Amino acid sequence: MPVKNKPLIILALFLLLIIFIAVILTLLYKKAPPRKMKPIIKGRIAIVIDDWGYHLDNLAIAGGIKQRLTCAVLPGLRNSREAAQYLHKSGHEVILHLPMEPKGKLRLEKDTIAVNMAQQEVRRILDKDLGEIVFAKGVSNHMGSRLTEDIKQCEIILLEVKKRKLYFLDSFVTAKSVCGRLAKKIGVKFAKRDVFLDNRNEAEYIKAQVRSLKNLAQVRGIAVGIGHDRKNTLLVLKEMLPQLVKEGYQFVFVSEIARVDK
Ligand SMILES: [Zn+2]
Repeated sequence: MPVKNKPLIILALFLLLIIFIAVILTLLYKKAPPRKMKPIIKGRIAIVIDDWGYHLDNLAIAGGIKQRLTCAVLPGLRNSREAAQYLHKSGHEVILHLPMEPKGKLRLEKDTIAVNMAQQEVRRILDKDLGEIVFAKGVSNHMGSRLTEDIKQCEIILLEVKKRKLYFLDSFVTAKSVCGRLAKKIGVKFAKRDVFLDNRNEAEYIKAQVRSLKNLAQVRGIAVGIGHDRKNTLLVLKEMLPQLVKEGYQFVFVSEIARVDK
């Protein structure tokens, strides 16, 4: 054998040795008990459906959605109690959707909490509403672009929410909402809306919003989306959510992610 091939032979032997060691190590490693694989969760998503109580039309669709929904029921409407009962029985989470004063001239619900209302009146309304929506695990604001900027009234509401061991979900209809800051100060469980799902009542638009919500959950770990008691919204969710579960997203109630900010 020519001497010039000697380094090549040494290299080949060396490589064979490496492969031999690798095979031995692999065999040894395989004998170790397999580690339990946790399913990888890409992100947690809380979907809130607002404005239940006007009618009963979409209850069956919501009842057919197997993923967790948080359903915000308006108080004092003809179908408030029945809707709350049905949604609770379907396994969804029910919260009180408390009407609060907006800035614009909109049609207001009876007993909408207003900036100039007396403290005892705010407490009376909250007491009455929570007595009606008995399954409520939390409270969220219906409208409220004016009220959620008002420290005095929001403090009364959040103190009551804390006293009753509920959480507050800020629908976040104004960037100047004081609720987050106050919740932290008072020490009440709090969560905030990230994405509105159905500002346009069109299936394609709603689908795109659900995808944005999913992307946000992947980036941030948690995302909260709000839609409304409308056929298009609920049908889109019924179609899309099982697929998102397959992709590794987990649907949670707002009660599972609302927390006291330290
Ligand atoms: Zn609402």
